[in-house]
Amino acid sequence: MTNQTSRTVRLDGQIVLVTGAGDGIGKAVAIAAAAAGATVILIGRTQEKLEAVYDQIMAEKLPEPVIHPMDLATASQEDYDVLGRSILEQFGRLDVLLHNASVLGNLGPLQFIQPESWMKIMQINVNAQFLMTRALLSALLNADSGKILFTSSGVGRKGRAYWGAYAVSKFATEGMMQVPTDELATTSNIKVFSINPGATRTRMRADAFPGENPATLPTPESLVPAYLNLMSEAGASLSGQAVDARKLLEELASE
Ligand code: NDP
Repeated sequence: MTNQTSRTVRLDGQIVLVTGAGDGIGKAVAIAAAAAGATVILIGRTQEKLEAVYDQIMAEKLPEPVIHPMDLATASQEDYDVLGRSILEQFGRLDVLLHNASVLGNLGPLQFIQPESWMKIMQINVNAQFLMTRALLSALLNADSGKILFTSSGVGRKGRAYWGAYAVSKFATEGMMQVPTDELATTSNIKVFSINPGATRTRMRADAFPGENPATLPTPESLVPAYLNLMSEAGASLSGQAVDARKLLEELASE
């Protein structure tokens, strides 16, 4: 890894797409990418939340972001293709694709998971990543060094009872990282990562652990240096790896 830390990471002029940009980790990373100089494409299902992020970025006089509301549970292949075409027309390329949006679903024993719920979680957490990556690959290949970040979880690296479809979807996400890594490593300059943010103070974490005091958890903003590192050339040597955000933060802090 280079000794370029988050303090020096700049994304000036870069085009960065973040899914689930209206809340939690996606919101914090989208705002930080804009602060680092990127034009951010904000994808999410709740328009008002995306507008609030847009307003915050504009209030800080950062590069104007693009709002692109999209429900990953119901978006069609054509919706993804429209997104890909509009990015190519407007920017000619995409530098960073951060797959961040996910849903947790209900936790509990496998036999009590409703099949419709399982399918919906897989659609949002897995199939949407495939459809979006496929539709945006041309734009990523047009960048000097495109980056694709997938968001994993501890339960996507070691299975745990009662985490059901969410855990299985995160194992699939690791595959979503490894397969294109193997395909693209020798044929392109695209870097691919999976990042596990670790326990973070968001709505999803509160849903998973309702008895936990959120104040004891790190904030989404505290993760930003790890994400910016992977979005920039600084983290390129980690391509193909399942990255642990907290570990990466420690390494960056010790540089
Ligand atoms: P949040 O629930 O806070 O945010 C999730 C975001 O995804 C929201 O902006 C939400 O939009 C969006 N989203 C959900 N469903 C859809 C959909 N159908 N279409 C479009 N957007 C959608 O989660 P976190 O910030 O905690 O999680 C971010 C990522 O980090 C996830 O992939 C999660 O699995 C992972 N993670 C989180 C951990 C944690 O402790 N927080 C730990 C390990 C991994 P809206 O707000 O409109 O609902």
